Amino acid sequence: MSQQSVLRIDLDAIAANWTLLDRHAERAEVGAVVKANGYGLGIEPVAKALHAAGARRFFVATLNEGVILRSHLAAAEIVVLNGVLAGDEELMVSHDLLPALNDPGMVRRWRDAARTADRRLPAYLQIDSGMTRLGLDRPGIEALASDPEAFDGLDIRFAMTHCAVADTPDHPGNAKQLSRFRAALARFPGLRASMAASSAIFLGDEYHFDLVRPGAALYGVRPIDGEPNPMRQVVQLEATILQVRAAEAGDAVGYGATRILDRDSRIATVACGYADGFTRLIGEAGSARIGAFIAPIVGRISMDLITLDVTDLPETAVLPGQRATLIGDHFDINDAADAARTIGYEVLTGLGHRFFRVYEGGAA
Ligand SMILES: *Cc1c(COP(=O)(O)O)cnc(C)c1O
Repeated sequence: MSQQSVLRIDLDAIAANWTLLDRHAERAEVGAVVKANGYGLGIEPVAKALHAAGARRFFVATLNEGVILRSHLAAAEIVVLNGVLAGDEELMVSHDLLPALNDPGMVRRWRDAARTADRRLPAYLQIDSGMTRLGLDRPGIEALASDPEAFDGLDIRFAMTHCAVADTPDHPGNAKQLSRFRAALARFPGLRASMAASSAIFLGDEYHFDLVRPGAALYGVRPIDGEPNPMRQVVQLEATILQVRAAEAGDAVGYGATRILDRDSRIATVACGYADGFTRLIGEAGSARIGAFIAPIVGRISMDLITLDVTDLPETAVLPGQRATLIGDHFDINDAADAARTIGYEVLTGLGHRFFRVYEGGAA
């Protein structure tokens, strides 16, 4: 058995999180967002676990991600949120990918692609309800709504929009976007609708419409700021202890000599650093669990190494070759994000590029 550091990914926890959201969004169908390689956790095992749990509509950001996902999921609906770029129509069609159509020009090109393919092509219609990022603006909505041939040859499965401030429930932007989305929907009678990502699922039923699109919450990210996290934790980061050394009071630890030891200490050096996605900004706010003990990080986080103060742990509890858990129940991705002044999304998508990934659970 190799002793290298590992990122453990609990596929059963991902499935349980999907099921929890499915119960919460009672009347809506629940899709799954697996962009950025399944939020960094590996699109194939993640998507297969979600499909086994019941998800049938999947969302990725790019064509490339869609092509990869199609090779793993033959039957599911796959939506490319960034839409279809000029020149990519044929690839989108041949891999049975649905673009989120973001402006009238894109709608026109997809209509042309349908004519070329000589069949009706499915798509989503993305509406900007107040984020000013992607989707139809007000003139675009009017242009399409007043053109009776706008969607000829197309099968628009859902009109969708995305919330900007859903992690802050009492922000007035939520209600504002809801009413702007409703007004836009009224211009396209008969279309089913999708608004909520992870956070908005917890804003209430009126945000659910026909389909919700969670990503982050499936992977354990806290959906609402400042409230208890109902999601199960999915990832655990275990770094191998490379060396345990004695140091004397007055010795400096790590780059910049930012930590001068104030007592004789034992320092354990573990194989994990910011190049593994354990962001440097976590700094000394982080700690490791070693068996039943917690050891704080001391000194700066290096590219490939982290130093832990294990002075207070029994010597027999800390040996080279053992693993120290840096992200786990004692310090999860949300804690890591808070420490680094970022969001769980960024912590998640940063992990897993370099680590050996070990999957647990899952249908297979
Ligand atoms: C990323 C994304 C989602 C998923 O968002 P989470 O906050 O991760 O649940 C849903 N819809 C769109 C348009 C997105 O870009």
